Amino acid sequence: MELKITCIPGDGIGPEIVTEAKKVLNKVAQLYGHKMNFTDILMGGASIDACGVPLTDEAIATAKAADAVLMGSIGGNTTTSPWYKLPPNLRPEAGLLKIRKALNLFANLRPAVLYEELSGACPLKEEISSKGFDMLIMRELTGGLYFGERKTIEENGVLKAIDTLTYDENEIRRIAIKGFDVAMKRRKKVTSVDKANVLDSSRLWRKVVEEVAKDYPEVTLEHMLVDNCAMQLVKDPAQFDVILTENMFGDILSDEASMVTGSIGMLSSASLNDTKFGLYEPSHGSAPDIAGMDIANPIATILSASMMLRFSFDLDKEADAIDAAVKQVLQDGFRTGDIMSEGCTKVGCSKMGDLITERIK
Ligand code: NAD
Repeated sequence: MELKITCIPGDGIGPEIVTEAKKVLNKVAQLYGHKMNFTDILMGGASIDACGVPLTDEAIATAKAADAVLMGSIGGNTTTSPWYKLPPNLRPEAGLLKIRKALNLFANLRPAVLYEELSGACPLKEEISSKGFDMLIMRELTGGLYFGERKTIEENGVLKAIDTLTYDENEIRRIAIKGFDVAMKRRKKVTSVDKANVLDSSRLWRKVVEEVAKDYPEVTLEHMLVDNCAMQLVKDPAQFDVILTENMFGDILSDEASMVTGSIGMLSSASLNDTKFGLYEPSHGSAPDIAGMDIANPIATILSASMMLRFSFDLDKEADAIDAAVKQVLQDGFRTGDIMSEGCTKVGCSKMGDLITERIK
């Protein structure tokens, strides 16, 4: 199979970690008989420096022409970098918002996995962390409170702010279908999170999710109120497989879930549209404090590449091979500085990429 992939190395550690992900993908291609066709585009600070804007229309066209986009990270030091003296629409992050909009990416996937070997980094009590966990948060990304009508008015001399939370059934249906599709590739359980005891939008959410569930008889569906979910994430994270939720709840819960793993350098993510197309990137930022030092952890980006194979190309065996190689490298005791612990061997970004590549079977 020929895979057309647009890469956005970006800023800071971005180019280093994308290089390692490409190494791993090339090894997969060689072993499994695929052809990787990579094209790089500029975005963020790198694009500002070269083209005066954080993302050009030509770069968007290149991304659209591919089957998937693999990104490192964009942005610089927000206090010292000259990029942050520019007007907001010309700053690095504006490129990210523009590409998400141009590609119609409405579904955000963030796995939160606690590897046995890294359980020491988990801030939860050992009796909870020892069970491990492997969940994925499927968050609606383009609707809800963040995109509803908003205004601030003055009424009888009192300031009043209004934000509107709106979802229509089509927006809910398309994200629910993504949630169930992903659950079919995992342990076949969906926890739909809402606030149906209070909000109309949540009651509609629940109704539509139940309708979609009928097409997935193999998947177990449960509903959970968002406040309970926030508690359950720290009390018993092992119970979750796919958490399906709307924009604001997902924003908060996905950060909570990632903090519970304790390892920011390990967390991948994906944003999908209603085709197989997706943008895959680590959950962390461009880490300008360690850029160019060959000490960044490339694993989040390598695991994002694995998600790309699984969700955009349906290459589950190849994705499993990458996930297994990452697990093996941890079992063999290799760590980058951010996940280092006593008795392990500390390696740099490029060496970590090599070690994972060697373990692809
Ligand atoms: P950050 O995630 O870049 O860094 C936070 C801390 O974690 C730093 O100490 C950094 O060294 C460390 N870290 C992050 N990733 C690491 C890795 N792979 N290996 C080892 N250590 C790692 O967050 P920040 O410092 O708040 O943001 C820096 C820049 O990144 C900002 O310009 C911000 O806007 C941008 N950012 C971009 C994205 C994106 O491109 N999607 C996401 C978040 C932040």
